[in-house]
Amino acid sequence: MGRSGDREREGAMTDWIVAGAGFTGATLAERIAAELGQRVLVVDRRDHLAGNAFDGADDNGIVHHRYGPHIFHTNSRKVWDYLSRFTDWRPYHHEVLAVVEGRPVPVPFNLESIAALFPAFMAENLSRRVIGEYGYGRKIPILKMRESGDDEIRFLADYVYRNVFESYTRKQWSLDPDELDPSVTARVPFHASRDPRYFQDVYQAMPRAGYAALFERMLSHPNIELALGTEFDDARRRHPDARVIFTGPIDEYFDYRHGALPYRSLRFVHRVEEVAFAQPVGTVNYPNDYDFTRITEMKRLTGQACGRTLLIEEYPEAYESGRNEPYYPVPTQASRALLEPYLDAARALEGRVWFAGRLGDYAYYNMDQACARALALFEKTLSRVGAA
Ligand code: FAD
Ligand code: UDP
Repeated sequence: MGRSGDREREGAMTDWIVAGAGFTGATLAERIAAELGQRVLVVDRRDHLAGNAFDGADDNGIVHHRYGPHIFHTNSRKVWDYLSRFTDWRPYHHEVLAVVEGRPVPVPFNLESIAALFPAFMAENLSRRVIGEYGYGRKIPILKMRESGDDEIRFLADYVYRNVFESYTRKQWSLDPDELDPSVTARVPFHASRDPRYFQDVYQAMPRAGYAALFERMLSHPNIELALGTEFDDARRRHPDARVIFTGPIDEYFDYRHGALPYRSLRFVHRVEEVAFAQPVGTVNYPNDYDFTRITEMKRLTGQACGRTLLIEEYPEAYESGRNEPYYPVPTQASRALLEPYLDAARALEGRVWFAGRLGDYAYYNMDQACARALALFEKTLSRVGAA
């Protein structure tokens, strides 16, 4: 991947270095280039743009996401309008089933999941109680639901906790759900409805020509130079006076001087089957079975027409620098405490260097949140700094 002449153009003067060509870096580079008319050098140590959203065809011609399945969803009209400048969309509403006691049931766990797993009289009673307590359509984080004063709701919550969350979370994080910030399991709350979708956001779609094509257009501004396969430190040595936006791991930037922050990684196993479709929905979760957490069928996401199908299994694993990728920050109280001195160090550099993104902020962002964070940083701070 990449544009010809990347390295030649890199020799020119630049006003800004953006480290990382993912959602955060690309959004900031585009804004600075287009709105401030300043020169931006975007570097990424990988040999492609798009960060973890990178996609492309495999040896069988099946389009997949190299770093795990990426489904775009947002409630932000602003983010949707901004990204729509660079891509057309294919409407797509993601659905997920989790295999519980041998049965695939909807996740987020909802009224249909209750009906599929309990005898009819029990299911009716549990649904009535949940709707009575919280209201139809409400979403309730499972850890909150376990605190209910109603015995039957607590029975249901404990069942969902044990069968959907406990083992999955141990596999994914090597931690129990209550050791993580509550926002992690609250991403997939109990849903007192029959809506089969994983997300309820107003805008849900996949970039029609893929993520890499979206990023090609974002970074096509003449004020932007793209240097792939390039370390930030190399760019910094060549352009010591440029302002910097760093979207890599914040602890790495400071040479781990306050200790290494924890990250969680994944290993992806690809399996091709000679059938048009192998799963009823985009993703099937296996909370209690096997060592992987979930299997995603790429064609369901991309809409690609093709006689065979690609399934991607996700095996969580410990992060080891240089061996695998730091996919997830680990939201715990301990990591928050470790992060604080890095945030102080970052504040001390403000005016010359800014940190942003899933790794730069050490925050569990979705793609739309990474883009929103970048747009806000540009509007509130960088647009004024850059113009000064
Ligand atoms: P990244 O995409 O991580 O980009 C940072 C870039 O910086 C990387 O390309 C890296 O190579 C580069 N870099 C780091 N350090 C240096 C350095 N020193 N020098 C040069 N380059 C450097 N979000 C959704 O909205 N929907 C989903 O369905 C979804 N699924 C996901 C599934 C998985 C398995 C994972 C891991 C994430 C998923 N996400 C999803 C989250 C999404 O990937 C992130 O929100 C998004 O990629 C964050 O963008 P970013 O630019 O902050 O970071
Ligand atoms: N989770 C779970 N069981 C599931 C789905 C999710 O325990 O069937 C928990 C788990 O801790 C997971 C978190 O909820 O890490 C967030 O899930 P999400 O699907 O949002 O994770 P991501 O897509 O970011 O990996």
